[in-house]
Amino acid sequence: MNVADSEVVASVLTNAGYVLADSYQEADFIFLNTCSIRENAEQRVFGRLDLFNQQKKKYPEIKVGVLGCMAERLKEELMERKKVVDLVVGPDGYRDLPNLLAQTESGHKAINVILSQDETYADIAPVRYENNGVSAFISIMRGCQNMCSYCIVPYVRGKERSRSPETILSELTELKINNYKEVTLIGQNVNSYVFEAGSEKITFDKLLEKVASEFPDIRIRFSTNHPKDLSDELLKVMAKYNNVCRSIHLPVQSGSSAVLKTMNRAYSREWYLDRIKAIKKFVPDCAISTDIMVGFCGETEEDHKDTLSMMEEVQYDFAFMFKYSDRPGTYASKKMNDDVPEEVKVRRLNEVIELQHKISLKTKKNDIGKTYEVLVEGFSKKSSLEMVGRNSQNKAIVFPSLNNKPGDIVQVVVEKSTSATLIGKII
Ligand code: SAH
Ligand code: SF4
Repeated sequence: MNVADSEVVASVLTNAGYVLADSYQEADFIFLNTCSIRENAEQRVFGRLDLFNQQKKKYPEIKVGVLGCMAERLKEELMERKKVVDLVVGPDGYRDLPNLLAQTESGHKAINVILSQDETYADIAPVRYENNGVSAFISIMRGCQNMCSYCIVPYVRGKERSRSPETILSELTELKINNYKEVTLIGQNVNSYVFEAGSEKITFDKLLEKVASEFPDIRIRFSTNHPKDLSDELLKVMAKYNNVCRSIHLPVQSGSSAVLKTMNRAYSREWYLDRIKAIKKFVPDCAISTDIMVGFCGETEEDHKDTLSMMEEVQYDFAFMFKYSDRPGTYASKKMNDDVPEEVKVRRLNEVIELQHKISLKTKKNDIGKTYEVLVEGFSKKSSLEMVGRNSQNKAIVFPSLNNKPGDIVQVVVEKSTSATLIGKII
């Protein structure tokens, strides 16, 4: 999400005549695009601001801006706490950046943290300045109003709103012209996408069908999905089009219906497992990944065991795993008790990580001997003789290069695996 937002910011500023610097050491304006989801994400931002403070001591004329969710959450407080900050701009204020920069150039601090009901930046062509030239993101919806009790997103990114299909399709056309081979449609809950055109309601399954049928040579991914909106119609569209990648990210958070209820997730363990069954029925070769949060308010040892058994049952290919952190302003922060002791949170998180590691090893082992179509992304981190790409299931595969280049499609047979990567050779 933040990459896509930074691309919008780059577009707004290059249109206003600014030029992207290669590094912060060379920049006159430094922007930090921030996330507020977890406390440690914010801690890292404070660390970066200290670094920029050093730079500003050397070059006092440079300006530092904080953009995105943390700007929205902390507002003026950010400038008060961190003197280095000249500019604070929330996720719906990027169009205003040229004006705000002009204010800072005349020696004032500047802020815009107004949230909008309808800003989607639909007409702004993102400047894709930091990707591999093969795959790109298209942001199709913004905001969220699901109000999960632990989550800061509805407060910092505003109400849910979707872009028109026409603007999404024209962004795809532009990417195709520029030789991109893969596109990920992104949103806070991408499958909750809905755009009303007159009397017609275009839901995510319909959008995906348009995109997949009009761009048969482009691989289509989408992330992230809310389980409550994962419809059979969507799964049927996935099954119908080969260019829709076989991978679904479906955050579960917890395996306990009681915890899901206090989280206000709007589904139970049974509902979630029914959706997993539907994925396996309609798209049997689909990889499934998830987000898991341990140690939420009131989580008992039994609840935690339910999460572990959920993981066993689904056999996730991949998981992002977190321990709950209190986010001031949320319902949980105001009304619930953060009563799971830190050492218990850490132990539960370690158990979840260890189990996922075992499951990932197993699911990757099952891939040995299989042949996959791989989109080459670039050289592997370890060697310039090896390349890395992804299969439809979003698994990274490393293989010796046969003079391949990013964007090539190759057939790779898997010979070995680790918990994170498949290793093979081109056939
Ligand atoms: N919209 C997506 C998730 C977006 S946030 C969904 O609802 O599934 C990404 C992940 O951050 C969440 O899935 C959750 O696991 C984690 N997260 C959100 N708030 C958190 C908090 N207060 N503490 C720890 N993890 C949190
Ligand atoms: Fe946060 Fe819940 Fe919205 Fe996801 S669905 S962004 S977890 S409020």
